[in-house]
Amino acid sequence: MILNAFNLEGKIALVTGCNTGLGQGMALGLAQAGCDIIGVNRAGPADTQAKVAALGRRFWSIQADLTQPSVVPHIVEQAIAQAGHIDILVNNAGIIRRDDALNFSEQDWDDVMNINSKSLFFLSQQVARQFIAQGKGGKIINIASMLSFQGGIRVPSYTASKSAVMGLTRLMANEWAKHGVNVNAIAPGYMATNNTEQLRNDESRNEEILGRIPAGRWGIPDDMMGPIVFLASDASDYINGYTLAVDGGWLAR
Ligand code: NAP
Repeated sequence: MILNAFNLEGKIALVTGCNTGLGQGMALGLAQAGCDIIGVNRAGPADTQAKVAALGRRFWSIQADLTQPSVVPHIVEQAIAQAGHIDILVNNAGIIRRDDALNFSEQDWDDVMNINSKSLFFLSQQVARQFIAQGKGGKIINIASMLSFQGGIRVPSYTASKSAVMGLTRLMANEWAKHGVNVNAIAPGYMATNNTEQLRNDESRNEEILGRIPAGRWGIPDDMMGPIVFLASDASDYINGYTLAVDGGWLAR
């Protein structure tokens, strides 16, 4: 029956940046659907760990700074040593730096590109190799952005990195579909998390943004739960290389 296809019981999901915001919402959604979680964070994600445990699911914590792509192979080694296998990868960790394009620094370029696209690609590569070795396919879900579709303003490295995420999602899907690996992305709209605190605190930007969201509100981490469970489950087995907007209608305007 179709609802069984959404059941993730017995699956193991590796989620980067799951101690706050959208990553926490997605880790909890996956755990509610039956997954055990491997969380990759800079510090121990105590809150998420406790919430996953309260759902009766296992949680393993790996500490890594994803601005250093060299950490990636160790993440997968540790994940396999602890959990035995991986079924789902959620590339969520990401940062943003704001400055006028005329002033933007090389440091702000490199830091954002390293975590948002370079580590995302190399972690996907390592996990895809693991999926192929396991012989049962797998699911990779990348977190894109409205700025995968639009130019944005004062966030050049973020726009570049998130545009890369949408392109890489297609490329990886094309190469790995034959191994039963689905690669898709979710492009969140304007969501109330640390990442957008500055925007929400700016009264005129906040009003401007709310004014063009058809749903009339900022998104919240819980809004990511249904889409992530769908894309992580057998229910989406014939969806490859697609970026799903979860944006309250922002792109429809
Ligand atoms: P957030 O609350 O700031 O979460 C970002 C996560 O990434 C945190 O868990 C953070 O951990 C982790 N992280 C940051 N730098 C890291 C590093 N060097 N190594 C490992 N982990 C690191 O913001 P969010 O809004 O939930 O963002 C999650 C994802 O959604 C990002 O990719 C973001 O670009 C994307 N997104 C957000 C929105 C939005 O409106 N909020 C819209 C579109 C896309 P720490 O707590 O240790 O920093």
